[in-house]
Amino acid sequence: MAQSLAAFNTFGVEATCDSLFRFSSEQSIQDWLAGMPIPPEKFFVLGGGSNVLLIGHIPLTFLKADIEGISYREEGNDVFVTAGAGVNWHALVLDSLDNGYSGLENLSLIPGNVGAAPIQNIGAYGVELEQLFVSLSAVDLFSGEKREFGHAECEFGYRDSIFKREYRGKYIITDVTLRLSKKQQLVLTYGPLKELAASTDSVSAKDVSKAVISIRQSKLPDPETLGNAGSFFKNPVVDAEVFQKLKAQFPDIVAYPISESSVKLAAGWLIDQSGLKGYRRGDAGVHQQQALVMVNHGQATGEEILELAGHVKDTVNEKFGVALEPEVWIIGEQHVFEASR
Ligand SMILES: Cc1cc2nc3c(=O)[nH]c(=O)nc-3n(C[C@H](O)[C@H](O)[C@H](O)COP(=O)(O)OP(=O)(O)OC[C@H]3O[C@@H](n4cnc5c(N)ncnc54)[C@H](O)[C@@H]3O)c2cc1C
Repeated sequence: MAQSLAAFNTFGVEATCDSLFRFSSEQSIQDWLAGMPIPPEKFFVLGGGSNVLLIGHIPLTFLKADIEGISYREEGNDVFVTAGAGVNWHALVLDSLDNGYSGLENLSLIPGNVGAAPIQNIGAYGVELEQLFVSLSAVDLFSGEKREFGHAECEFGYRDSIFKREYRGKYIITDVTLRLSKKQQLVLTYGPLKELAASTDSVSAKDVSKAVISIRQSKLPDPETLGNAGSFFKNPVVDAEVFQKLKAQFPDIVAYPISESSVKLAAGWLIDQSGLKGYRRGDAGVHQQQALVMVNHGQATGEEILELAGHVKDTVNEKFGVALEPEVWIIGEQHVFEASR
């Protein structure tokens, strides 16, 4: 019998899969795989469901690593924290701050679980996971063997890692180890955080976390009240030459240089300037304040949100000649048919 996934995705869409198995330990995953006749190609690993758009019936077996536990090991000023894949990301951030360790403050309130954080190298307000990442443990879904991955092996990039490419669908991550610090090394490069630093003599990691939480709450819709998966598209990266042409035509274009030869464009600005902020088709909509966020106003289906996203993509392409790529994983009958690369 099909398993409902409505409670397992932050878009809040009704979708189903063949079956869902939840695991509380690495060993239980290995034991289960050992006796499993289902081929691993038929698996999909789900975390908190905050970066997925699920469509209709998905003919796959969903696996969830609900592995709990947070442990710390101090070494000089460094603190190594290891957290189970099922730990809520924000709970880990708060726990580390409560223990007096800094490092995760800028990544406060990102939804989802620890196990998914390395997949797209989560990032916000000037910090990316990879800056703190030490290693992760994973179970190979094909052989059942455990494997450790160091930083270099994960091949992190902007919202990217090897787990979205060569190793897509091959591993279930069971825990993640990060390097935090007993000494504060705050990153206050992002505008409003700069202002925080300027406004007071001593800023603590907890202050930064509180500021990030309040910025996020004022800017981003809470999935509990308005279904969404955060930024639907990645910020597109274009050649400097392409950027110069766009700049000549659209002098206000919002962009950030990332190297001498490439520039990252603000996808939200492109969507906004295409006249789509607040655009709505039935219950599928573009958020009123954050054009990069697609939302479910109530009863939208995954298909309807996908159609809306297609319209957004086409409209931006017509106006700017820039192809937007999804950041969220779009999963439906044809399995994982957009991999947010
Ligand atoms: C309101 C909102 C704001 C957001 N803001 C940000 C932001 O600022 N920065 C940012 O980077 N992201 C942001 N996101 C996206 C999302 O929170 C992150 O991508 C998060 O890491 C997804 O975690 P999850 O547990 O929900 O993963 P899921 O959505 O369940 O899965 C995402 C991907 O990870 C894989 N995966 C999950 N768990 C495992 C595991 N244990 N082993 C192997 N693969 C696994 C899945 O197969 C899938 O490919 C936001 C989302 C929302 C809803």
